[in-house]
Formats: sequence, structure tokens, C-alpha cells
Amino acid sequence: MLPFALPLRTVVAAGRQDGPRWTVWSELSGETVTFGADEVAGPGRVTGWAAYVAGVVWALRDAGHDVPGARLAIASDVPLGSGLSSSAALEAAVLAALADLGGLDLPAERRPRLAQRAENAYVGAPTGIMDQSAVIRCRAGHALFLDCRTEAIEHIPFDLAAAGLAVLVVDSRAPHRHADGEYAARRAACERAARLLGVPALRDVPAAGLEAALARLDDDETRRRVRHVVTEDQRVLDTVELLRAGRVRDTGPLLTASHASMRDDFEITVPEVDTAVEAALAAGAYGARMTGGGFGGCVLALVDADRADAVAAAVTAAYAERGYRAPGLHRATPAPGARRLA
Ligand code: ADP
Ligand code: MG
Repeated sequence: MLPFALPLRTVVAAGRQDGPRWTVWSELSGETVTFGADEVAGPGRVTGWAAYVAGVVWALRDAGHDVPGARLAIASDVPLGSGLSSSAALEAAVLAALADLGGLDLPAERRPRLAQRAENAYVGAPTGIMDQSAVIRCRAGHALFLDCRTEAIEHIPFDLAAAGLAVLVVDSRAPHRHADGEYAARRAACERAARLLGVPALRDVPAAGLEAALARLDDDETRRRVRHVVTEDQRVLDTVELLRAGRVRDTGPLLTASHASMRDDFEITVPEVDTAVEAALAAGAYGARMTGGGFGGCVLALVDADRADAVAAAVTAAYAERGYRAPGLHRATPAPGARRLA
């Protein structure tokens, strides 16, 4: 996987209080939630947005850390539920704040797993580890080449400004359409296909062995799911090679190919995101693709920096023409991961 962190931020101001007791306020919900040892003794006892915070406390304590009681105030400019991972940003920020406050021995490489555990086991959302890794381990001006199996990372130069480029982030604002069930169905399809092919996971099918693997599967839908995963893995490797060679612009066609694969083979796009991709490409983007778990969320478009506004306007116009709600627009530069600000 090759994510990069956005310059959007979730900020946590933290102070100690006698514990075990945590008082959490979020500007976004305007709500204060307090919980203590009972609520973090097991998953699911705090619900709603504060579950992400309680989940981090639970995961830390479960891993044997002495988490300090704390008062936490949270502000964020990460759009919620847009596929830009406000949930991972919240987990990472709370984790960093509590680790710092308590002087916990918690190196960066161990944090993504704990944040993921908070989300998977406490909140109950079956996410992978990519988002948490990105928000915790990314570096400014770099993409994060991440092996989700080993958690090995490598920082790959992704200097948009030096190349005169920009990434435009289009929030499709598409209504959620059964995203959870469809996500689970795709995951199950991949696991079933891996079993049929006798490999631990589809990543173990090399691109060179794709045709042979497809020939062993007898239904078209499964074949397309497999083709998406195997070709997507190869596109990541190809993108890393191009970035290493400083050929940022040339990664555009791989972004667009990725989108086509998500649309046609994995079938996780929706008309709003397809429209954003098509309009961006028609307005001169070098490449564009949906990001996130699918069925809505955001589109990234790689554009000349001085064309970003024109591409944004073209996407907005295409939305208006189809009667879609106006898209959200951000410009992204690869930013650093969670860290102490003051
Ligand atoms: P995404 O991660 O794509 O933004 P999720 O559904 O995974 O979408 O996570 C969004 C949820 O995370 C919100 O509904 C809310 O419960 C929680 N959340 C994220 N950031 C904040 C915040 N700053 N304040 C309160 N809750 C937040
Ligand atoms: Mg999320």
C-alpha cells in the first residue's frame, strides 16, 4: 500500500487528572463524555464517537501500559466519514497524547497496531492497518510504502511541489450505500478466492501468475475480484519505482488504471466518484482515482499545481450538471504523521 498523510489535522490538548478517569470533549460533537475503569475494562462499553477514545485507553491498558487519567479536548478539520480516516486520526492523536502524558514506552512502530485494535475490537469496525500506519508513520514530502503483513515501511519521496504538481482531494459527498456490507462481501470474496487458489492471501498471487490463477477460477465475478487485487498490488510496486526515479507525473496513468479496476473489477465505486474522476481527467489531470474503502468517499487527482483550481471548477461544474450535491475540495501535500505540537 502507498498512502500519504494529508495536511488536515485532528488536534488533542491533554492534561492529567486523577485516574483512572478520562474526560473527553470534542468540538465537533460539542459533547463531554466521562468514563472510568469499568468502561475500559472491556470492548464496547462506551459507544458513539467517544468509543474511539475509550478504545485507545482500553487497547493501551490491555497491552500492559499504565495509562494516566486525563482530560482531553479534541478539535479536527478532517472531514468525518469521507474516507479520509478521521477515525484513525482521532485514535492516533489520542494515543500520542496519552503516551506523552504518561511517559509510556511506546515506539512509533507499535502504535498503529494498538490504534487498529481500538477500532477493530473496541469500536467494532473491521478496518485494516493502513490508515493507522499512515497517520502515525508518514513523513512530510513522502508516501509510505507499507507492507501490511510485516508492517515494514519505507518512506518514498513524493515531492509534489518540486515537480510543480498538486494533489486535489475531491470529497464526493456521496450518500453511504450499504458500504459496510459491501466491504465485508469484498473481503469475504478475496478470502474465498485465496482458499480456492491455495494461497494464504491474494497478495501471494504474483502478477506474472495472474492468468494461470484466473484460469483456475470458474466464476467471472471471483475472477474480476482477484484481477483487481493482483493488478493493484503491481500498480503499487510500479508507482514506487516511478517515485524512486523522481517521475511523479508518470504515476498518473497508474492512478487512473487503479480507478478503472475498482470500478469495473472490484465494483466499489459509485456514480459520484466516477464523475469526479472523469471530470478531473477531462480537465487535464494526469491521473485520478477513488481513495478509501469505496462506495463514496474521496477522489485524488494528480494535477499541475497551476491547474488545480481549474480542475476543481470542472469537477464542481460536472456535479452541478448531474444535480449532485457540491463536492468538498482540498489541496493535499504529503504531511507528517501524528506528533506533539506544543
Ligand atoms: P472516516 O474514518 O472515513 O472519517 P469513520 O466512520 O471510520 O469514517 O469514522 C468517523 C467517526 O469517527 C465519526 O462518526 C466519529 O464517531 C469519529 N470521529 C472522528 N473524528 C472525530 C472528532 N474530531 N470528534 C469526534 N468524533 C470523531
Ligand atoms: Mg475510518
